[in-house]
Amino acid sequence: MTTHNVTLVTMTCQVNLLVTEARICSVSELPPWYPGSETKPAPMPLLRVQGFINTRDVDDGSDLLEDPVTARRWLTEAELLNDTAELTDAQAQLARDVREAIRSLIEDDPDSRVGALRDLATAHRARLCVADDGTIGLENARHDGLGDGLFELLLIIYRAQQDGSWSRLKVCGNPDCRWAFFDRSRNQQGSWCNMAVCGNRLKNRELRARRR
Ligand SMILES: [Zn+2]
Repeated sequence: MTTHNVTLVTMTCQVNLLVTEARICSVSELPPWYPGSETKPAPMPLLRVQGFINTRDVDDGSDLLEDPVTARRWLTEAELLNDTAELTDAQAQLARDVREAIRSLIEDDPDSRVGALRDLATAHRARLCVADDGTIGLENARHDGLGDGLFELLLIIYRAQQDGSWSRLKVCGNPDCRWAFFDRSRNQQGSWCNMAVCGNRLKNRELRARRR
């Protein structure tokens, strides 16, 4: 536990809640840090996890976390890193490892890469906070280094797993794409980031393979 008193913790929580509400209202417009365009955005704050996964565009090979300079720019813009913090090669690698571990979670293939998330969870702490209406929540105890920002993403995933929205965040079924999208369909059977692009492309490919 930290040494913060209850008033301070409550105030921190209020600020967080206000920020969250403001962001929910503006979901129709993608925030500037979101990589590229998006036809299937998750609601905030899960959009932050979706955007983080999509910093790597598997299809065109680009990566917004590929080196410390590029990664620092994106991470600070996405408020996952303090704008005064520096970023080393090892930290940029950590960010990429965490990103691919999160992608593997929603690809129904949580493999050994989950270790990166476990390490993150072990090294950081969340604390309880109490909102004005008595709702008790979990919040990040620190907001300094890269690890704190990445831990913030874990907290978002934790809350999404609790409220059920996590199962709607998926990876496109096209293996050449693997873009993360939010499936808003009623039966949650969506498979493609974009039916016109990936769905048809893959269906045509399967059709061609069958004709051979
Ligand atoms: Zn796709």
